[in-house]
Amino acid sequence: MDLRIERLSKRYPAGVQALRDVSLTIRPGMFGLLGPNGAGKSTLMRTLATLQEADAGEVKLGDVDVLHDKDTARRVLGYLPQEFGLYPKVSAEDLLDHLAALKGITRAGERRDAVHALLQRTNLLDVRKKPLGTFSGGMKQRFGIAQALLGQPRLVIVDEPTAGLDPEERVRFHNLLSEIGESVIVILSTHIVGDVVDVCRDMAILHEGKVLASGEPAQAIAGLNGKIWQKTVARAELEGYERDHAVVSTRLFGGRTRVRVLADARPDASFEAAEADLEDVYFSAIKGLGRA
Ligand code: ADP
Repeated sequence: MDLRIERLSKRYPAGVQALRDVSLTIRPGMFGLLGPNGAGKSTLMRTLATLQEADAGEVKLGDVDVLHDKDTARRVLGYLPQEFGLYPKVSAEDLLDHLAALKGITRAGERRDAVHALLQRTNLLDVRKKPLGTFSGGMKQRFGIAQALLGQPRLVIVDEPTAGLDPEERVRFHNLLSEIGESVIVILSTHIVGDVVDVCRDMAILHEGKVLASGEPAQAIAGLNGKIWQKTVARAELEGYERDHAVVSTRLFGGRTRVRVLADARPDASFEAAEADLEDVYFSAIKGLGRA
């Protein structure tokens, strides 16, 4: 069962066009929605989560018309918003139980089993009696996933979940998402290229409300093979390089600046060939490099 998004558009009353004719087909598995701040990711996530109206377009999850049959859609989707408020004094187990009741799991025994299974799956069983206010960032996000999985959704939407997680928690969170992505559609919205590299089989790049690229990361990277060149330069020279070349990115490397440029052929003998990566794909897309 796929999620089909067709020509979705949204303009806010203040005048910002947050989504422009967004079309994507998303199959089960981990899907990364990559874009800088302000790209329209949260707007898209909230629209898919039935929390916000679109101006135009269609969204179908299998047979379910997500934009018009919100009640049915809500039964089959789970959502972890960017700002996820928790009651700090309530325990993880109690809040999850409460949320399960709201989700319509009314029989107490069934609810207890579901809550227990989700706490176990998100590795929170040991701390289930602890107040949520004592949880670390990673534990809170795992709790967020537990509540998003209530009712066995077929579509799970997670909005910028790894911001603020330490590396170990991030890996753990990625592992959890990958496991979930084995059976359902998981959309992970993020501005962190590494999140997509690590866990996503498919991805799209969103910028200023438009889809600039979509597909498998490896394929997108292959499209840049043989076209990425790099050299280390002094900071004072940077401006000249920006002017004369299609600079994809500049990165400090051991205290020096490494420039990566996009070009069909080696710009000059001082550049060395570099292996393309997803950051090159991302930055060249949002900077509009290599396009007519
Ligand atoms: P992202 O999640 O990629 O950072 P958003 O969807 O939050 O992007 O925002 C896309 C654009 O829409 C931004 O320019 C943002 O300022 C604007 N925007 C978001 N929410 C609102 C709102 N409620 N009212 C007006 N403008 C908004």
